[in-house]
Amino acid sequence: MPGDDNDGVPLSPAVARYDHVLLDLDGCVWVGDDALDGAADAVAALREAGKGVAFFTNDVRHAPDHFVTKLWRLGFQASLDEVVTAGAALQFMLAERTDGGAAFVIGSQALVDHVADAGLRIVNNTEFATRADVVVVGVHDAFDYRELRIATQAVLRGAELMGATRDRTFPMPDGPWPGSGAVLAAVEAATGRRAERTVGKPEPDMYAAARDRLGEGRYLAVGDRLDTDVAGARLAGIDGALVLTGVTGRAEASAADPRPSHVADSLAALVLR
Ligand SMILES: [Mg+2]
Repeated sequence: MPGDDNDGVPLSPAVARYDHVLLDLDGCVWVGDDALDGAADAVAALREAGKGVAFFTNDVRHAPDHFVTKLWRLGFQASLDEVVTAGAALQFMLAERTDGGAAFVIGSQALVDHVADAGLRIVNNTEFATRADVVVVGVHDAFDYRELRIATQAVLRGAELMGATRDRTFPMPDGPWPGSGAVLAAVEAATGRRAERTVGKPEPDMYAAARDRLGEGRYLAVGDRLDTDVAGARLAGIDGALVLTGVTGRAEASAADPRPSHVADSLAALVLR
């Protein structure tokens, strides 16, 4: 297996025993536009030790290639097939379970593209928007009341409601920003309906995609959130490490039930010896 012979590579004993490491991006690898201290060294050390690496994000504001470009810009090596996004998982799920149909999408152009690539007809900006068969919800910077109104009317007319993630917030340099879960909650509150499906962490979809790409072995998932990264790892049957560089503080980490497999100040502190 990869990683059995890592003499000379400065990996911590906690991480050395895994074959593959799934790395959350926001709050674990970077915050906003800044790489977290030591994160690039940590990822380089994982690669040097022969570990499989995947970058995991519930951020549906951008397409996978955006994250590859950003990783390189911030000093990380990365390839497109190492990036696993909730948007790509949503596309896969929609392609499996729907037979075409019309979709109204609250979300970025990247999310709209994923829904279109799943074979659905996008009815945003048409007179048929409130008659969509499926309403797909993710956060984007231009979210507005009109979108909420159309989504509400479509769902009350019988459209299926699908959410990208239930993340309430995501970490940014000036504090938490509302996430896809906040926008989804607005649609749920207005309609009295709960979304049929979400696909981001902690749901199993992204973990299955990673297993598909990286193969067999012992997996560790690393992230900054208890309710997505640690809970998701547990649901997927793998170990979950919590880093304190994002939304979760030391006190909250100590009180967590179930406990994360590992708690570290940062990705660098977790990975490097
Ligand atoms: Mg995160």
